[in-house]
Amino acid sequence: MDDDDEEFLLLNPGPVPVRDHVLDAMSEPMVSHRSADFEAVYERAQSGVDYVFEHSDPDGGRTAAGGTSLLLNGTATMGMEAAVANLVSDGDEVVVPYNGKFGRRFARIAERHTDDVVRVDVDWGESIPVDAVADAVSDDTALVAMVHNETSTGLLNPVEQVGELAADHDARFVVDGVTSVGGDEFRVDDWNVDVAVTDAQKALEAPPGISALYVADGAAAHFDGEDAPFYEDLDWHLRKADSHQTPFTSAVPLFRGMAEAVEAIEAETMPDRIARHRRQAAAFRDGFDAMGLERFPEPTGDTELSNTVTAITLPDSIRGDADDFFDAVAARNVSISGGQAHLGGDIFRVSNMGSLTDAQILRGVRTVGEAMTDAGVDVDVAAGVDAADARLD
Ligand code: PLP
Repeated sequence: MDDDDEEFLLLNPGPVPVRDHVLDAMSEPMVSHRSADFEAVYERAQSGVDYVFEHSDPDGGRTAAGGTSLLLNGTATMGMEAAVANLVSDGDEVVVPYNGKFGRRFARIAERHTDDVVRVDVDWGESIPVDAVADAVSDDTALVAMVHNETSTGLLNPVEQVGELAADHDARFVVDGVTSVGGDEFRVDDWNVDVAVTDAQKALEAPPGISALYVADGAAAHFDGEDAPFYEDLDWHLRKADSHQTPFTSAVPLFRGMAEAVEAIEAETMPDRIARHRRQAAAFRDGFDAMGLERFPEPTGDTELSNTVTAITLPDSIRGDADDFFDAVAARNVSISGGQAHLGGDIFRVSNMGSLTDAQILRGVRTVGEAMTDAGVDVDVAAGVDAADARLD
C-alpha cells in the first residue's frame, strides 16, 4: 500500500486518536447538565477516572484510596491553576522544580497567586537534581508543584523523591500527570501527592477540552475556596461532584466522551496499558537509535526517559531548518511535533499515548526514516524498522 493510501496517523503528544465509540457518544442528543441523564454520565466518568488514578501500578496494586476525582471544564492548564490557586495565598512560598515548558508553566501560574515562588530551574532536557530541590524546600514552603512527565522534552521526573521532601516539610504537593496518567505508573499515595492533574486528550484518550483532578484523601482540608478564582473553587466543585454535577454548565459531549474513554481503559486494565505504553515507547527509541538518530534527553540520577513521549535531536544538517523533513512527514499523512519554545528547530517529538497498534508505531518509525532520507539525512530506515519490530515482538 502507498503511504498516500494510508489513513491519517496522529502521533503528536496530544490530542491523540480517539476511538470511534467515544466520538459516537459525543454526538448523542443534548441533555441538560442538571438532568439525571447527565448525572449518570458524570458518575461513569468519575468512576473511570477514579479507577485510573487508583490503579496506575504496573503490577496491579492500588496507587490511591479515599480521594475524589473531579472533572473540570477547561484543559489541564486550568486544572494546574485550580490546584495551585486553591492551596496558595499571597505570601505563601511555592517551590517549582522544572526542566521544560510545562514545569515552567507551574511557576508562571504560581507567580499570579503569590510573590514568593522559588524556581529550581534546570536546562530543558536536563535531569532535575533532587539535591537542589532539597535545598529549596523548607518548613516555610507551603506548596511544591512539578510535572511528572515533561512532554516538551520526553523526561519522567523524580516525583517520588520530591514528594518525600514535600512531606518531610509538611508542604502540599501538586503534580501534573498530564502525559503519564493513563499511560504509565502514577502513585498518588506513595508519592505524597495532594492534587494530581491530567488532561482528557493525552493518555486518557478522550477528546480535548476538559481535565481531571484527583484530590487525595485529606487534601481538601487545605483548600480555601474563598481565595480561589470563582470558576475554579475546588470546594464548590467537590460539593457538586457529590451529586455528580459541576457548579457551572458542563461540556456535556466532552464528559460523555470521557466516560466512554475511561471505561475502555478500565476494560484494558492499567497494568496491561502501562506494559503496552512502555513496550511501544521502547520500540520508538530502539527504532530511532538503530536508524542513527540521537536522543534529545539523556537522563541522569532519578530522572528517566518518558514512556509516552519520545524526543529526538534533529541531525546537524537540518537543525534550525527542518521544514523539508516535517513536510515529508506530513506528505505521508502522519502528524508529529517539533520542539517547543527555544527547542523549536532542535528536536522532533512523537507520542505513543492512547491505543496505537504496533503497526502504527512501526509506520511512525518508517515515516520518520523516509522523511529524513527525503531531507538529505543519511539514516538506515530498514535497521530502524527492524529494531523497533524486534522490541514489539
Ligand atoms: N502539562 C503537560 C505535561 C502537558 O503536556 C500539557 C499539554 O501538552 C499541559 C500541561 C497543558 O495542557 P493544555 O494545553 O491542554 O492546557
